[in-house]
Amino acid sequence: MNIILLGPPGGGKGTQAKKIVEKYGIPHIATGDILREAVAKGTELGKKAKEYMDRGELVPDEIVIGIVRERLKQPDCEKGFLLDGFPRTLKQAEALDEMLKELGKSIDAVIYIDVPEEEVVKRITYRRTCRNCGAVYHLIYAPPKEDNKCDKCGGELYQRDDDKEDVVRQRFKVYMENTAPLIEYYEKKGILYRVDGTKSIDEVFAQIDEILQKIAK
Ligand SMILES: [Zn+2]
Repeated sequence: MNIILLGPPGGGKGTQAKKIVEKYGIPHIATGDILREAVAKGTELGKKAKEYMDRGELVPDEIVIGIVRERLKQPDCEKGFLLDGFPRTLKQAEALDEMLKELGKSIDAVIYIDVPEEEVVKRITYRRTCRNCGAVYHLIYAPPKEDNKCDKCGGELYQRDDDKEDVVRQRFKVYMENTAPLIEYYEKKGILYRVDGTKSIDEVFAQIDEILQKIAK
């Protein structure tokens, strides 16, 4: 079963990816991870990617595609894989399809975890992080026992710049601009499945599980 997982930053994608991998035993292919791995191993493509990363530039699509391709050729991907963080744009989706065709593979399902902007803002802007030990709290869902103080080490809690409302909204906007055409692309192919991401972790997974059970048949 070959799956792509889509969803906005802060939408619970990472948590659901873990649950899918646990239940279905397919490898979780997060583009950021395999890119770093290729760089660390010093593969031909990894070396090329590093040149861009060192300059603080985006790694070009051809190189990312090449690295994903190398990963998908590994034997553990024979039974399936879960792609996360790739593709991000329509151009990448088209390149992915072409590459999969060469490998004799195709995507069975694209699962889109739908979480509205206001919900993402609520989840992220209430986050507080301990300056001392890095523990993460949520003022509504997982508040510290004492205001502004870490339960574990007593350190001061603060809001990371990444968790500030304007940053979160900007990130969401960019994500949606890139993702909307992707959603349309996969919808036309009839393999897009929308999941209501505002529910609890278990309820969201139940929706995903139902889809995967269906396509596994
Ligand atoms: Zn702490």
